[in-house]
Amino acid sequence: MHRIYLDYAATTPADPEVIKAMESYFFEKFGNATSPHTFGREASKALENARETLAHFLGAKSEEIIFTSGATESNNQAIIGLAYHLKGKGNHIIVSKIEHHSVLEPIEFLAKQGFKITYINVDKTGLVDPHDIKKAIINQTILISVMYANNEIGAIQPVAEIGKIAKERKILFHVDAVQMTGHLPVNVNEIGADVLSLSAHKFYGPKGVGALYVRKGTPVDSYLMGGDQEKGRRASTQNVAGAVGLAQAIELCREKMSQEIEVQTKLRNKIINEVTKRIDGVTFNGHPTKRLPNNAHFSFDKVQGETLLTSLDMMGIAASMGSACTSGAMEPSHVLRAIGLSDDLAFGSLRITIGRWTTSEEVDYFLEQLPGIVKRLRI
Ligand code: PMP
Repeated sequence: MHRIYLDYAATTPADPEVIKAMESYFFEKFGNATSPHTFGREASKALENARETLAHFLGAKSEEIIFTSGATESNNQAIIGLAYHLKGKGNHIIVSKIEHHSVLEPIEFLAKQGFKITYINVDKTGLVDPHDIKKAIINQTILISVMYANNEIGAIQPVAEIGKIAKERKILFHVDAVQMTGHLPVNVNEIGADVLSLSAHKFYGPKGVGALYVRKGTPVDSYLMGGDQEKGRRASTQNVAGAVGLAQAIELCREKMSQEIEVQTKLRNKIINEVTKRIDGVTFNGHPTKRLPNNAHFSFDKVQGETLLTSLDMMGIAASMGSACTSGAMEPSHVLRAIGLSDDLAFGSLRITIGRWTTSEEVDYFLEQLPGIVKRLRI
């Protein structure tokens, strides 16, 4: 059976060019980037080139990039590292209600230690209102964290406006840019981010490598304790092959971006239009235009999302209810709750995310299969 992958927001397959670029760093150029000999220097050079490539893509300086094991680590380090460093200055943090768990969990951890948290609501399309952020700021506010694009419903947040507010009030601004990076332009200066997280496997790079952008002068404590790598900001032997892969992946995204946006937006719009036309009792979630080019998200009346996914899988189609990280959990998604969906509708949701290798034939097959499956599950 030809298997159709419509879950690119969970993870992407690596681009073959990425693997090709990484290969020699497992074999002849396997050195430890901190070793002073030729092997080490070779690895260090590759690492610094990768850092430069990513920095250039983000409009940053290369010394502002820390390579990490992925966005979970980047988000944990950003939130806890900043909060600990700034706790003498204040103990109040502002965060949106629809952040990824890798932001919300460290926030809860801080709350238990006495930090005060203001959770900002979103409207029914999933957008944060920058005025709500402004209103929430108090003298003790040290950090604002709002994601660039939501991983479930694809809503793109007004981060540039929020960044402006943060700058005016001299508050640090963290942006989880995991779902944006590689898919739409991300420029740390345009959005006023002081700290920004990303993960390579979301843009055709390898799993287990990500980065944290830290604006020069921003105090972020090392999260892992041990060696002095990454200028003392992240202990552990650097993943040179991973960083090379991440850099190659971002280069490819940069080259292909405008064309991919165009192709994917068309396919996504077709999915949205046809699903809402062919099926009754369907709610379209997220914002109609301020959304990722590859994301379509629906809720179906009287359908169990988990059963829908199993039925699709039996027909060779891989999709998701929303976030891969919470599937299997009994609680409805916090994001869908925040946009005001009932628990029943939240449990009946379907996220379709397309990518570099999605074809229009695959989309057509999905559109042919879905109405019958939904009908059968409703009986
Ligand atoms: N933030 C967002 C918005 C995400 O979608 C994800 C991955 N689902 C993460 C953070 C965590 O990334 P990783 O699993 O690569 O650590």
